[in-house]
Amino acid sequence: MPTDSNYTPALSPASDDVDLDYAEDQDEDDRPGPSRRRAGAKGGGKGQNGAAGGGKGEDGRQAWEGMYKRSWDVVQEDEGGGLQAAVDSLIARGRRKRALMSEAPLRRSIIRHMFIILDLSDSMRDKDFRPNRFELTLQYLRSYVVEWFDQNPLGQVGIILMRDRLSEVLVPMGGNPQEILATLADKRKLEPSGEPSLQNGLVMARGGMSHLPSTSSLEALVIFSSISTSDPDGPTSIHQVLTDLVQARLRTTIISLSGEIKICRQICERTGGRFGVAIDEEHLRELLWETIPPPAQTLAPSATMGVRNALAAGGRAGGRPGGAGRPPPAGDLMVMGFPVRLPQGGETLCACHGLLKKGGYLCPRCGSKLCDVPTDCEVCGLMVVSSPHLARSFWFLFPVANYATLPLEIASDPSHELAPTCFGCDRDFPDLSDIGINLGVASQAEGVSPTGRYRCVKCANDFCGDCDLYIHDTLHTCPGCSQ
Ligand SMILES: [Zn+2]
Ligand SMILES: [Zn+2]
Ligand SMILES: [Zn+2]
Ligand SMILES: [Zn+2]
Repeated sequence: MPTDSNYTPALSPASDDVDLDYAEDQDEDDRPGPSRRRAGAKGGGKGQNGAAGGGKGEDGRQAWEGMYKRSWDVVQEDEGGGLQAAVDSLIARGRRKRALMSEAPLRRSIIRHMFIILDLSDSMRDKDFRPNRFELTLQYLRSYVVEWFDQNPLGQVGIILMRDRLSEVLVPMGGNPQEILATLADKRKLEPSGEPSLQNGLVMARGGMSHLPSTSSLEALVIFSSISTSDPDGPTSIHQVLTDLVQARLRTTIISLSGEIKICRQICERTGGRFGVAIDEEHLRELLWETIPPPAQTLAPSATMGVRNALAAGGRAGGRPGGAGRPPPAGDLMVMGFPVRLPQGGETLCACHGLLKKGGYLCPRCGSKLCDVPTDCEVCGLMVVSSPHLARSFWFLFPVANYATLPLEIASDPSHELAPTCFGCDRDFPDLSDIGINLGVASQAEGVSPTGRYRCVKCANDFCGDCDLYIHDTLHTCPGCSQ
């Protein structure tokens, strides 16, 4: 990845503000001003964008806007002039897009450490996202954290704030979502003010993770609202920090709420993260939720594939040791303990908070009582996890294969007997005779099944679209095959 040779930081010693270049030149109409930007985006679909002009794509949109398909561009009316069919098909398409996953073998970390770096500059008060950027981001973060810990029970998350050109740790790195939620609920501590310093935020994240072993995946997720960063006028520039990040293998993902910023894109590309510009509320949510599955590190070496095949076959066959003669990937052993769960009887003193509480878990090594798992034992430092947590965190080693769509021709063939209801939720499938009307513009090209049925290749059970998403997104096991 070539670095940017055109980039020149502000040289004036009086000012330590560094305005960052846009990837494309912008004319006066496009200067930051959320309401104008929103108006432009909304009018764009109606062909009134000729006046915007200069430095943009053919249809007057920024390059990053083109990556997002706007829902009103793809909607088509059905024969009766109604939109219900189109809306149904859009929902089905979105659902299917999320349910379909890559089947290539990937190596992923099950132990993740992530700092969420939150921009709390004045620009967070902008009202282009409803009710405003600040409220919406907090609201999303609350459900994001819960979902993140659900999918990555062995991971840890910390939160760093950027405001007044300083960065501060709001929540130190830890594995307890309740603590993060409690802190995010207290808005008095989170007043947006001043300008952000991306450099300070990243330096703090790197410092907070420098002690972690190389086996865990180090990540930073930046939610950046401002269009510039005010970095310290010292000997180190943000480009130096970027080089450090690459060396520390700190994968940085940045979600911008205002527009594409060149330095942000560079940081993401060089550290292996992703850069995204949120167009609207729903898109912001999409971008955030994309970071929940563990990032793929490399294509899995054949040795891992051998182990995976052997495990999938129940240890009977497959998986010659060592795969295709290559040594297995280097790995460290980790010490973990499975705790004993205490009955909900009388109250006893816990080692983590020093409070009298009912229930809890006993550390298998030192026998002290812990309130919640997964955690590190307060007394002996042992990593205490429950076996369901451990099993949940490597679901991606044994993914449920994508379900196949069922074309109309096969479904209407009388020699096939079709189950009347979904195998997952027992809901009735649409009747074959009125499918043509119901699914309207839904096409198989997008992976949407015209019959509304999704069939597991292994157990040949049919599932509805909702179950397809739930199984691949949350459950990670096929109800038909696991019996
Ligand atoms: Zn406790
Ligand atoms: Zn212990
Ligand atoms: Zn179902
Ligand atoms: Zn199945």
